[in-house]
Formats: sequence, C-alpha cells, structure tokens
Amino acid sequence: MIIPRNRRELLSGSEGILKGSCLCGSVRYEADCDAGPIIHCHCQTCRKAHSAAFSSVMPISQKSFKWVDGSELLNSFESSSGKNRYFCSTCGSQLIAERPDVGLVLLRMGCLDTKVTDRPDAHIWRSDAAPWYNPDDEIRQLPEGYLKP
Ligand SMILES: [Zn+2]
Ligand SMILES: [Zn+2]
Repeated sequence: MIIPRNRRELLSGSEGILKGSCLCGSVRYEADCDAGPIIHCHCQTCRKAHSAAFSSVMPISQKSFKWVDGSELLNSFESSSGKNRYFCSTCGSQLIAERPDVGLVLLRMGCLDTKVTDRPDAHIWRSDAAPWYNPDDEIRQLPEGYLKP
C-alpha cells in the first residue's frame, strides 16, 4: 500500500464530505475530506477479501473518518499485522481497511456513494496479480449484463 507522506498529496478532485454505505444499507460512513488518489490494488489479500481481480481504494486521514450508522454490525479481519479490514456482517460488503499505526483509512471505492470524478492513479502490487486479468487487455464493454434472457 502506498502511504502518502502528507495530507497535501491526497488533495485532488471532488471536495467536501465523502459518504459510503454497504450493500444492505445498514452501515454508513462519512469522511470530512476531499477525494484523494484512487489506487487499484492487485495484492493477493485484496483479491481474496473482495473476491475480485483487484480492490479500488482511496487512502484518507483517519481523523476525517467516522461511522454514522450500523457500526454495531461491523466485523473486522486483521489481514496483515496492523491492517484491519472492516465489513458488514449482514451483507458482507468490505467498506474500509484501517491502518491505525499510520493514521490512515483506506476507503473501498465500490461502497462509496459520493460521485467522485477523479480517475485512478495507479495499479499497485501487479507482482501479485491474478493471471487472468491484465489491465492492458482491451476487451469488449457491454452496457448491461453478459447474458440476456
Ligand atoms: Zn450491509
Ligand atoms: Zn491490496
């Protein structure tokens, strides 16, 4: 994970409060900060935690983050030393990871409700990536699902 050296490096894109929620809507959070860099992490623990090719994350200051609803439903898993991944125990959404040692919260972009217009800055941990996904591949893009009834 990239650890920004200071807060200023995080500032870009949309301003104001970032809001997010889980799939079932029970857990909600707010972060009183501007949108920071968006990073696609391909490490194996992110792939396992999200059961996906990569996890899209945004590091923000822990001080700006707060749970506003449903925090009693949260469960967490320490996937590596000092890094706790929080998820809703009802629907399983991964909402954030927390690195208290460096004062960072890593928002999981898929649960962000605020429309952020920034574009991703980097793919990281490509050395750990799934063999079946390469961001350089051009594949067809469909407006809706793969199979139509
Ligand atoms: Zn939920
Ligand atoms: Zn990762």
